[in-house]
Amino acid sequence: MSNPWLREFWRMAALFGGALFVGWLLDMPLGLFTLALMAYLGWHLYNLYRLERWYYRRKKTEPPHASGIWGEAFEHIYQLQRSNRQRKKRLATILSRFKESTAAMPDATVVLTEDDRIEWFNKAAKRYLGLKNKQDIGQRIDNLIRHSRFSEFLARGDFAEPLEMASPLDDQRYFSFRIVPYGNNQKLLVVRDITRLKRLERMRSDFVANVSHELRTPLTVLTGYLENMTDATGEHDGQWDKSLQQMQSQTQRMTRLVEDLLMLSRLENEEKSALRDPVAVSAILASLLEDARTLSGERRHQFSLEADDALWLRGSEKELSSAFSNLAFNAVQYTPAGGHIHLRWQRCGDAVCFEVEDDGIGISPEHLPRLTERFYRIDTGRSRESGGTGLGLAIVKHVLDRHGAHLEIDSQPGKGSVFRCVFPKKLLIEHRQSQAV
Ligand code: ADP
Repeated sequence: MSNPWLREFWRMAALFGGALFVGWLLDMPLGLFTLALMAYLGWHLYNLYRLERWYYRRKKTEPPHASGIWGEAFEHIYQLQRSNRQRKKRLATILSRFKESTAAMPDATVVLTEDDRIEWFNKAAKRYLGLKNKQDIGQRIDNLIRHSRFSEFLARGDFAEPLEMASPLDDQRYFSFRIVPYGNNQKLLVVRDITRLKRLERMRSDFVANVSHELRTPLTVLTGYLENMTDATGEHDGQWDKSLQQMQSQTQRMTRLVEDLLMLSRLENEEKSALRDPVAVSAILASLLEDARTLSGERRHQFSLEADDALWLRGSEKELSSAFSNLAFNAVQYTPAGGHIHLRWQRCGDAVCFEVEDDGIGISPEHLPRLTERFYRIDTGRSRESGGTGLGLAIVKHVLDRHGAHLEIDSQPGKGSVFRCVFPKKLLIEHRQSQAV
């Protein structure tokens, strides 16, 4: 009989049936039946007592043995207990393996709670961040990494990009702080030492800056001599004139390249503190328009300028002027003679935009994502011919990045292009306020 309840029923029936039968023989059926009932109840109470006692001091002991339905119940409890124990063991092994592997990781790893308190950290976190065992658990992480940029990063809640800054303990070392949200609003802070990478980057940009700087003097000398020689044209024949012209245009191109490379390395290395001046954008654009007209020369492009005088920006006049002129001059270079070029400086939705629209040669969509890379040109020959360095849009991108702005490009081959610099509203200053500054 496999069903335990059925077995228990037959046991009960046998007990009470037997009691009634013996009671009938002895002529006291009710008495014996009550006795059997009490014995049965007593047996239940006794097993209940054993269960309660076992539960009370269960720790690692097995549940008591019993017969009948109680035996069955104890057996189930025992199986439950055993599978729980196995699961606990498995979880403990996984947890200790996870802790061992994260502890051995060269990157500092800190587990943070929802309100940014430290829950756990590995050995590297002690070395990198100076965290101390026990005493720092439960502390807010921004109380221990005391740096305004880190606090802002933590408060912003946007962890798509890591934060790169000097180590809180040693300003010669550079760290990348990455936060990965997981589970129940918890966060994993991973800190990686990027000192070597930063040093290499610095070496590369110093190298480019030094080479460019060193090239300046020989180029100035060459340009000077070439000018002198061109001025003295009478002494040369036609063949010489042509060569001199070519030499002059190539030295000019090299000078522009050197200037652009120096500008890029300045943008990469200079502190952002120079980006706080009020800038009268419409005044920049007025003089830029004149320069663009001069550049257009015989090609006679049709220019228009719409600029809201009241919109001033907080930033660097030199950098913004360089970025805007790169865009305007590109429009002149890549728009056929007589084409239209519109410059606009106005509010656009929640932001402020500088826009250059032309009806020139346009750009096919596959080039757009790579256009701001250094030396990326669609038609190298054409760019060189027009005196382009291939660095113009890279400079624009850097300047905009430094101002917290971005570049949008809409273009159709054969129809024209719109290059739009979108500045966040927080950089905007009203005209009256800016005059008072
Ligand atoms: P370049 O010195 O060659 O002009 P840029 O970085 O300024 O270098 O521009 C990169 C490339 O983008 C150019 O070579 C050109 O092909 C394309 N480009 C830039 N501005 C325009 C424009 N207004 N219309 C069409 N193509 C453009």
